[in-house]
Amino acid sequence: SGEIYEKMCELTKDCKDVDVEFGPEIAHGSEHPVAVKRSGCHGFCEMGPLMRIEPLGILYTKVKLEDCEEIFERTIKHGNIIHHLLYKQDGVEYPKQEEIPFYKKQTRLVLKNCGHIDAEHIEEYIAVGGYQAFAKVLFEQTPDDVIETILESNLRGRGGGGFQTGYKWKQVARQQEKTRYIVCNGDEGDPGAFMDRSIMEGDPHKMIEGMLIAAYAVGAQEGYIYVRAEYPLAISRLRLAISQAEESGLLGENILGTDFSFHLHINRGAGAFVCGEGSALTASIEGKRGMPRVKPPRTVEQGLFAKPTVLNNVETFANVPMIIDKGAAWYRSIGPEKSPGTKAFALTGSVKNTGLIEVPMGTSLREVIYDIGGGIKGDAHFKAVQIGGPSGGCLITPHLDVSLDFDSLKKMGAMIGSGGLVVMDDKTCMVEVARFFMNFTQNESCGKCVPCREGTKRMLEILEKIVAGKGTLEDLNLLDELASMITDTALCGLGKSAALPVMSTLRLFRKEYEEHVVDKK
Ligand code: SF4
Repeated sequence: SGEIYEKMCELTKDCKDVDVEFGPEIAHGSEHPVAVKRSGCHGFCEMGPLMRIEPLGILYTKVKLEDCEEIFERTIKHGNIIHHLLYKQDGVEYPKQEEIPFYKKQTRLVLKNCGHIDAEHIEEYIAVGGYQAFAKVLFEQTPDDVIETILESNLRGRGGGGFQTGYKWKQVARQQEKTRYIVCNGDEGDPGAFMDRSIMEGDPHKMIEGMLIAAYAVGAQEGYIYVRAEYPLAISRLRLAISQAEESGLLGENILGTDFSFHLHINRGAGAFVCGEGSALTASIEGKRGMPRVKPPRTVEQGLFAKPTVLNNVETFANVPMIIDKGAAWYRSIGPEKSPGTKAFALTGSVKNTGLIEVPMGTSLREVIYDIGGGIKGDAHFKAVQIGGPSGGCLITPHLDVSLDFDSLKKMGAMIGSGGLVVMDDKTCMVEVARFFMNFTQNESCGKCVPCREGTKRMLEILEKIVAGKGTLEDLNLLDELASMITDTALCGLGKSAALPVMSTLRLFRKEYEEHVVDKK
């Protein structure tokens, strides 16, 4: 797409001489009536590279270098007069991005700016209302007001746990210790998940603004963004965003002339999945080996450098500015009462439209897979979806109408996790799926506690034996027993949920396991 960008720059360089009719957004006769910009991710991975023509919202999909001249001729050179039909699905043509089924059923609030603004310029974020929420709290509200609004909104942490964000902030705010930290967890390690990455790359100022609001609310002076090393573009865009915010007086000492000061740093992870766990993450920032510790004390009491710490993930912080802006009641009007707001999901696997989506909490799996995802690829049928990554569980056909929210999924023995949705068709071997996830968690176990270190190893050995057709019915019982033991006794969330994919596949697809063993029934 770098070549496409260059080509479009080349084609549009003389546009200032053309009589364009772009509408009020781009002024007539200005020096640069046509600008070519690199945006963040639009979410429609399946159809990339994408090119959107503003302000009409025309979206070109699967753009090739040789398409550039035609695009220029039809929708740029003479203004957006010609509505070229751009996207076809099931014989229907959609001239605009918002009419494409993949986007039509979505409610893009957190991801609103991704793909629409140039993430490398703070002015673009400010132009779409960025930092207004922060200014509002800084000049018009007390820290308690802010916490009250977040509590009222019932915003729940998007990193997996679903813990009430406002309650966490309130706990930090009431600690005796005055040195406090804000930490953003950008260590998105689940296979198939890339929601936080898109926000960090496509709209970094939104989460920075969320962190600033949190810092003001709890009286924190310093913050860290922990980003996994595998996200170099996110790291460079965040660095740039921080320096631009500093230059604009939005970060640093005496922000916007007030006595509020906040400094923000980036900490690059080193590839350990366990560092997504709160206490391992803070240990890693402190320069120690990233290993979870026994709790209490909890992070809100003694987190980073043993000081009270607000630890939320990227998507959670990115929700904060719009809650402040539009109010808690507005936020609560989206989705179910106990899980309000939207959730971003990375939709991958055997689905026609893979990509990054955002829907109101409470949307059904059926709507996600069929209306947005376009259904199952090829001639196959839906078999299962792995939700919540390696710590999550499987959902099958009878669950298609279950509401995707924290509480409904918990009842099903699954969890929303960070939002990975891996769709599997009827050709998928579920024992192999369980082995894949166990292999992942086993590799990522930090080894601190015996149940996880040894238990996951033994489970993996058994699963490998079963996949190779050498397992026995007794092995299935042993898997069950080990799974319960690890879940009950492991120290941290990684170990506690390591056996979930095995447990849910054993429960839902026991027959498939039995077909693999040598002493079949
Ligand atoms: Fe480490 Fe696993 Fe124990 Fe967590 S459960 S502390 S990852 S060994």
